[in-house]
Amino acid sequence: MFSTDGSRVEGTSSLSQSISPSMGELASEKHVQFIVSVEKKKDSFQSVVMEHIRMNGAYWGLTALDLLGKLHAVDVEEVVSWVLQCQHDSGGFGGNIGHDPHVLYTLSGVQVLALFDKLDVLDIEKVANYVAGLQNEDGSFSGDMWGEIDTRFSYIAISCLSLLHRLDKINVEKAVNYILSCKNHDGGFGCIPGAESHAGQIFCCVGALAITGSLHHIDKDLLGWWLCERQDNKTGGLNGRPEKLPDVCYSWWALSSLIMIDRVHWINKDKLIKFILDCQDIENGGISDRPDDAVDVYHTYFGVAGLSLLEYPGLKAIDPAYALPVDVIVRHLRYSDIRFGMQMTGPHKVVGSRQIGPLHPSLQATRALKSMPVSAQFLLQQQIRQTSVAAVEIRSIGGMSLHCQLSICTRATSSLG
Ligand SMILES: [Zn+2]
Repeated sequence: MFSTDGSRVEGTSSLSQSISPSMGELASEKHVQFIVSVEKKKDSFQSVVMEHIRMNGAYWGLTALDLLGKLHAVDVEEVVSWVLQCQHDSGGFGGNIGHDPHVLYTLSGVQVLALFDKLDVLDIEKVANYVAGLQNEDGSFSGDMWGEIDTRFSYIAISCLSLLHRLDKINVEKAVNYILSCKNHDGGFGCIPGAESHAGQIFCCVGALAITGSLHHIDKDLLGWWLCERQDNKTGGLNGRPEKLPDVCYSWWALSSLIMIDRVHWINKDKLIKFILDCQDIENGGISDRPDDAVDVYHTYFGVAGLSLLEYPGLKAIDPAYALPVDVIVRHLRYSDIRFGMQMTGPHKVVGSRQIGPLHPSLQATRALKSMPVSAQFLLQQQIRQTSVAAVEIRSIGGMSLHCQLSICTRATSSLG
């Protein structure tokens, strides 16, 4: 099912094996054309509407292209140079050239550069200082100098600093406690303490807890129940709150959260795949919020990302916490990040003091995985699925402190036997 470069193999034969033909197919080529054309048509209605959030649009479009295996359809140097022109002296990024900096666009800027493996063009300290400077005394984060507070900004700061390897610049414990103060009795999370649960907000809070190795604070059954209740029986689509219409973007917000808390098997995946495919414009490309509505880059990205989470054939795998392709995360996360997760997780079993491996998915891997934080588990599981070989090493250094080393062996599957 996987090619050597980590992407799932394209082709109708693998498609017909796992997805019944009556469900329709993803019009990948059309979607690539749609995304590239939106980028080029700078005076179109959509471009005008997107003008002030162009950095977010770039992240949505380019990540969708990467998941579709077509990131090379754009000029890397042109994108990188534009991203850098959106950066301010403060270190933060604006939504476009000449626009004010905000943490929303700063994460998108970092994500776009990470996609192209170009984070080294940044003054990392400067960007990290901008983001860390937005943390408040109670652990929450403001979006910019005007001070609006929202758990979205907590996620953005944590994801961004983690990608930059600078989580040590903030008070992680306070940040986690603030997020937990926004947890509701229904198991979900809101934007501030006492605010109603919403799937988008839940993704942000669960994602931030996953990255910091703090998922043990979540009542997974309670939250899993609330999230799987979002699926509409008739259409198979997911909504963001009770009594709302289903919408393709919640295929990402709710589904990624269900994966992070290991309850994704509580929804009907085939029905959700059908709903997303029904929202495609198969003539001109693009995906809309609901069948027959107008398409846009935002829903095109979240539709493709949702299908990736559902393991739709021909798409790269996406990380549910970082919202970037898994190969990008593997490239950027280091030993120290995994260890950070371990320490935050609290009690864990020691698998052994010497290298275990090479591992086969059916053997020691499951045992080793159980002792790791979920974000690291996901990373490792993806690697195992893609290469069938991975080695986990948990080592005792200096008596009490434990280190977990994740090393990936890229040998071909066939050499394992
Ligand atoms: Zn939507």
